[in-house]
Amino acid sequence: MPNRSLTPEVNKGAICKVCNENMLKVNGCKPFEFIHENKQYSRFKVGDAGDFYENGNADTWCTDCGSKHGHYHHPGCDCEICPVCGGQLISCDCYLCVSHIA
Ligand SMILES: [Zn+2]
Ligand SMILES: [Zn+2]
Ligand SMILES: [Zn+2]
Repeated sequence: MPNRSLTPEVNKGAICKVCNENMLKVNGCKPFEFIHENKQYSRFKVGDAGDFYENGNADTWCTDCGSKHGHYHHPGCDCEICPVCGGQLISCDCYLCVSHIA
């Protein structure tokens, strides 16, 4: 997993553009639909099988976006896995095709 830091503001308690909450103060982001080529995908929550933290436990939290175990990463997180291709969500092309974030 490449360790790219495109979102250093997350670690300073930035406000998420999707849930409008301070990323370090909430448990995780709101769910939003991930639609790619008219097919809906389920995003990974922290600790889900396939997630960057899949071997974590209930105390695991995402050190990049601050989301806790069982909660969604905030969009833009370095550690969120793309449900379409299994790559790093912020660096794959699928992310550019997300047609609806709400
Ligand atoms: Zn959020
Ligand atoms: Zn995260
Ligand atoms: Zn992808």
